[in-house]
Amino acid sequence: MLQPFRLEEPASIEEASGLLARYGDSAKLYAGGTELLLVMKEGLLHYDHLINIKLIPELTQMSMQDGTLHIGAAITHRTLEQSPLVKRHFPTIAVVEANVANVRVREVGTLGGNLCFAEPHADPGTLLQVYDATVQLDRHSGSRQLPVEDLFVDSFDVSIEADELLTSVQVPVLAPNTAVAYRKFGFLERPSVGVAVAVTATPEQVHTVKLAVGCVGPVPRRMREVEDLLSGKGIDDVRSEMETAMQMAGHAADAITDLHGSAEYKAYLVGVLLHQAFEEAYQTALIAT
Ligand SMILES: Cc1cc2nc3c(=O)[nH]c(=O)nc-3n(C[C@H](O)[C@H](O)[C@H](O)COP(=O)(O)OP(=O)(O)OC[C@H]3O[C@@H](n4cnc5c(N)ncnc54)[C@H](O)[C@@H]3O)c2cc1C
Repeated sequence: MLQPFRLEEPASIEEASGLLARYGDSAKLYAGGTELLLVMKEGLLHYDHLINIKLIPELTQMSMQDGTLHIGAAITHRTLEQSPLVKRHFPTIAVVEANVANVRVREVGTLGGNLCFAEPHADPGTLLQVYDATVQLDRHSGSRQLPVEDLFVDSFDVSIEADELLTSVQVPVLAPNTAVAYRKFGFLERPSVGVAVAVTATPEQVHTVKLAVGCVGPVPRRMREVEDLLSGKGIDDVRSEMETAMQMAGHAADAITDLHGSAEYKAYLVGVLLHQAFEEAYQTALIAT
């Protein structure tokens, strides 16, 4: 049962950061509440103060500036799924967001909450890495930016200071001749394996491949050795290296055995999804040429 708490409603980032500093461990930021209220109802965690950040105007805004999409941290999955701006410039993000959880969770669950909770079985933290997306972290004493991949420290652990808020996510528009594909697999409520691939290609050459793998280990990660193996080659050479790349990615994914499956099974699936996502992104990049 949910224990009583006091709901704080700051109107600015500075005020929210000040409340975090003042109340310390007895306070927590509250966005959609889809994770937080669940663990509080279960009695796993309790906070005397929940700091509702959805009334802070900057956190609910989304805009395109100088070729970069700025997504306020309290933007919901549903907004990302339906936004014409996202559909036009980042169609894969819209599709992935449309497949997060169910419509009830997507209506209230936010991108910031998803990233900050760092539940390993999640999609955006993997997907955003192949866009080279960054997050902005703010507190009353200053701001900093981090690549999304550096946000994740461990399962349920992110690189955010006690009085900091994740305020926005920046996603640069893809380079010409580039496309992103995301493949996930799962049979439980949340995904068991997620693989994101960005390919920059012309008919003559696969210029660059970016790969991120999530859900199988504690944190979503870029796989730069695999990227190097597949980049800067003709398509026939890439395809002949694919079997090696699939095994490398499966091995590097640090898969763990849990309710979603054995480590070996997940490592195998990482390879399969890499192959599928590469082919989809490659074909789409050629159409974009
Ligand atoms: C049934 C179910 C199925 C799901 N399936 C999927 C799925 O398929 N794919 C997927 O990716 N996810 C899935 N999720 C996870 C879902 O996306 C998250 O629950 C949601 O995005 C969390 O956002 P929230 O706003 O509700 O976070 P909250 O519950 O409000 O907060 C979560 C945590 O993040 C902190 N926090 C929130 N915002 C900030 C911020 N701006 N700065 C710093 N800290 C912050 C809070 O203090 C809290 O610790 C599923 C969840 C459920 C319940």
